[in-house]
Amino acid sequence: MKIKEILSTGLQGGTPEGGWSDELEQDDCVHTLIAVVTDEGLVGLGSVFTNHELVKSSLSILKPLYENENALEPERVTEKLRQNMFWLGRGGSITHTISGIDIALWDLLGQATQQPVGRLLGGRFRDRVKPYASLLMEEPTKLRQKLLQLKESGFQAFKIGWGEFGRKNRQVDEAIVSAAREAIGPNNWLMVDAGGSDAFWSQGYKWALQTAHMLVEYDVYWFEEPLKPDALGDYTLLRKTAPLPIAGGEVLTRRQSFLPWLEEGAFDIVQPDVTKVGGITESRRIAWTAQEKGIKFIPHGWNTAVGLAADLQLASAFADTDLVEYIADSPYVDGIVAQPWSLDEDGMLPIPDTPGLSIQLNSEALAAYVSNTDFINCLL
Ligand SMILES: [Mg+2]
Repeated sequence: MKIKEILSTGLQGGTPEGGWSDELEQDDCVHTLIAVVTDEGLVGLGSVFTNHELVKSSLSILKPLYENENALEPERVTEKLRQNMFWLGRGGSITHTISGIDIALWDLLGQATQQPVGRLLGGRFRDRVKPYASLLMEEPTKLRQKLLQLKESGFQAFKIGWGEFGRKNRQVDEAIVSAAREAIGPNNWLMVDAGGSDAFWSQGYKWALQTAHMLVEYDVYWFEEPLKPDALGDYTLLRKTAPLPIAGGEVLTRRQSFLPWLEEGAFDIVQPDVTKVGGITESRRIAWTAQEKGIKFIPHGWNTAVGLAADLQLASAFADTDLVEYIADSPYVDGIVAQPWSLDEDGMLPIPDTPGLSIQLNSEALAAYVSNTDFINCLL
């Protein structure tokens, strides 16, 4: 089976807010879907966390390398793309785009062999996983209402992030966290994401350490991105001194970039984004290295339905990966699939054991957010 063509389309019109200081508008395109079309008619799906124009340009550069390649060899084919792109966009848009191709090739391998991707990665440690509802921080009354709604719909784990946290003063930070803990009750899981990869994040090590002590008072499970994304030394120190687990790594790309972070023990929890880091292939290698070093792997591909489907398969293949990030009511997650996800009575998401990523897009729903009709037609 060979790769005939690779199509892409940006998602626009329902883009959720990211909590960024320069906030996203609904029409901003930061997520792009990929379809790898084979000569035998099978189509694999991938997702890329970046703008469609960047993906289009990257695909045009990569085309001579992937055209007519074997469609059932994700690791070899994407390594070929990586190796030949050393001088062009390594770690940037080209790596982001390779992520989408890699996810789609794993989907194809699963479809062709009639196996779920998690089994192809070595085997399934679990057939369901706890999703944590991910939401932006708002002023306490609003946040409380949203958390109560999510709790009502069955979630048992919650992550609140970005917004005013770390951007105003300590009183505001504590008021938000206190309201969240009060809303979800003592027995549900709460995580806090400072969003230190925001533009001009101004807090440093001392703030992070003091805040970590405050968070422990509210039984927060982990503290995510409390520092600037390149502050390796401070992260390493913070992991040693903070009284709760430190999480990060969502903006890093390429397995090689993660090595110093894992070797120096900069995180308790590492969160590579499958739609940016280089795909399932790179996520898997990072996850194995992390696991050997006592660092938990929690994937970060949650922004689209395809990213979430890849995260679920990854979660099945790692013994320690007991959580996935989930954005409730997102147009690009449950809004574009034929069968929306649903939580079971324990607040868990089932991990499909049907072929590939087991994802079927709803082409009618998708049409509201994409302009490339060739993309929609290839799914029919
Ligand atoms: Mg985050």
